[in-house]
Amino acid sequence: MSRLAELGAGQTVTPLTPAAAAQLVNCPQCWKVPGGPCWPWGSHLARYQRANRRGLLADDALAAVVAGLEVIAGHEIVRGAL
Ligand SMILES: [Zn+2]
Repeated sequence: MSRLAELGAGQTVTPLTPAAAAQLVNCPQCWKVPGGPCWPWGSHLARYQRANRRGLLADDALAAVVAGLEVIAGHEIVRGAL
């Protein structure tokens, strides 16, 4: 039986947060490996963009991340849990 079938029809799988999705790929800006943020206070926007290209982060979720930045560039740090 598949995992989804075990969960049953009334339950859903919690989607990844944008930060969790970004941490599944290595960072093209600083080459941080998957498993943790680039810095204790956040990760580079470039990493979120890579996660988006790999299909791990939805377009609207990336848009929400970008909306919180003053400057939109790959080297910018996305702070906090976003
Ligand atoms: Zn980085």
